[in-house]
Amino acid sequence: MTFSQLMLPEPLLRAVTELGYETPSPIQAAAIPKLLAGEDLLGQAQTGTGKTAAFALPLLARLDPSQNEPQILVLAPTRELAIQVAEAFQAYARFMPAFHVLPLYGGQSYTNQLKSLKRGSQVIVGTPGRILDHLDRGTLKLDKLRAIVLDEADEMLRMGFIDDVQTIMDATPAGRQVAMFSATMPSQIRAIAQKHLKNAHEIKIESKTSTVERISQRYVMLDSNQKLDALTRVLEGEEYDASIIFVRTKSATEEIAEKLGARGYAVACLNGDMNQANREQTIRRLKASQIDVIVATDVAARGLDVERISLVINYDIPYDSEAYVHRIGRTGRAGREGKAILFVSPRERRLLRTIEVATRQPIEKMSLPTGEVIEQRRIETFRATLANTIEAKNLSFFQDLINDWREKLETTDADLAAALLFMAQKDQPLNVAKQFPEIREPHARGDRPDRPAERSGERPARFERGDRPERSGDRPERAPRPRREMQGNYNTYRIEVGKEHGVRAGDIVGAIANEANIDSQFIGNIKLFDHFSTVELPADIPTEIFQHLKKVYVRKQKLNISVDTGSAAGERTERPAGERRPSSAPAGAGSRPGAAPKRRTRE
Ligand code: AMP
Repeated sequence: MTFSQLMLPEPLLRAVTELGYETPSPIQAAAIPKLLAGEDLLGQAQTGTGKTAAFALPLLARLDPSQNEPQILVLAPTRELAIQVAEAFQAYARFMPAFHVLPLYGGQSYTNQLKSLKRGSQVIVGTPGRILDHLDRGTLKLDKLRAIVLDEADEMLRMGFIDDVQTIMDATPAGRQVAMFSATMPSQIRAIAQKHLKNAHEIKIESKTSTVERISQRYVMLDSNQKLDALTRVLEGEEYDASIIFVRTKSATEEIAEKLGARGYAVACLNGDMNQANREQTIRRLKASQIDVIVATDVAARGLDVERISLVINYDIPYDSEAYVHRIGRTGRAGREGKAILFVSPRERRLLRTIEVATRQPIEKMSLPTGEVIEQRRIETFRATLANTIEAKNLSFFQDLINDWREKLETTDADLAAALLFMAQKDQPLNVAKQFPEIREPHARGDRPDRPAERSGERPARFERGDRPERSGDRPERAPRPRREMQGNYNTYRIEVGKEHGVRAGDIVGAIANEANIDSQFIGNIKLFDHFSTVELPADIPTEIFQHLKKVYVRKQKLNISVDTGSAAGERTERPAGERRPSSAPAGAGSRPGAAPKRRTRE
């Protein structure tokens, strides 16, 4: 299957080619024809499967470029996702003249948003709260809307946005197309789909269970911008004979091969643009140890059978478990041992879990080799080469020179050896421990712990990140969910919206998460009283964010957030209702004075 077979218009095909996409991902192959035909769609897909292009490309194809009013609206749970999706639209529409996309999310100034809205955009990507705000103010008009996309619908549900989403859906014209994507399908999401989607096609990329043996599998959690650095460390720190690195696009194969080449690796790329002769030549050189590292796309590496490959690096996460199994199967050939390493960004966590479940094997978390480890390996490699040279070469000519220089330079053997070593290691310096600073695991927004499977209707995994039982020995059928303590200091804050205004804990989480850009995992217990509520938040919220939160409205009430001084003790005697987060830590947790609240767990 190719993109041109999908009948996308020429400007979009050109953009996709220029981005280096070779073939549509499984979700794209399934979703694009349906959406192009104007049908509604319910897609079960996680981040990393290529779902953004799966809806963006066909909806862009149906856009009327002469109209400058919102025709496509995408609702996303977080500002990061909204920005990412808006950027994806911009990239795919780069050859569509007069195209405009506008991200709208909480925490951004209204003045700028209003200016951009006045200028006009065909595509709006926003978080539900802010979109609803603009609808209420009359600054966003949806009467020309042709399609609405709910991206990460289960995440919007979890963050308490689902009523807002319903209200927005109700404000869209009757005949619009609806596409809904969700990693899981809890009943509330199904209910929305039933209410708003017409004869919707449901697409689920099945993860076939397959087993992989003899291959040790590990993953590293990192941000995309840390990948190249991480790659070079893995290549230095791991033992391997030959390695294959998997990326998504042909442009990435070239770019990474070039960068590794510049760092001295014997490397070549393998992608769909190469003709058969080139491809065969590359494989011959790999077999003959003229190259040790191959950077490839899935399609180009299909069926590759080279015994030397002992390390597979998934630089970009594969679209599904099947692709993963194909990839790692490039190692462990002919009964040998093999290793596979997967780079995962926080947003792709779910996909990692799906792969683990489908392959019925845990993928162990690994840490990247430190500067000390790399330094040690370089020293050992050098020493081994030195030992070989002493053993295998006739050095008498050089020994004579040394004897001569020792006298002429009036120095010692140790000094001579040290100076020669210094000169010999210049291309691959040995004293490098400090040049490799620690790569920290990202804790950005979006780095959310997995929620337990039960409520989200997903099959429970047998192990949980962070609390994984040992590989061998007695593994409980279901490991307990990690209940980590929230770190750092927390304060209890009072906000001026309560039960009498109809507020629910989810509304508060959603508003604070988006307006203050605080990951919902850092939002502690919420207690709802009649006239106000309390919420636990990190004590070090910057002043400007605090000031901004004062002005945020929830259920038409200004939050006017303040540190809770206990002045509400009187009202506290009244039993708070719905006192915890929609899903939360055990009752009472976190309310002990001075104690850090429990880290919230997911529903
Ligand atoms: P998503 O699952 O939508 O977050 O996409 C994940 C990543 O895959 C993004 O970086 C996309 O640019 C990339 N991507 C999506 N579709 C393709 C494709 N058909 N070929 C190569 N890369 C793709």
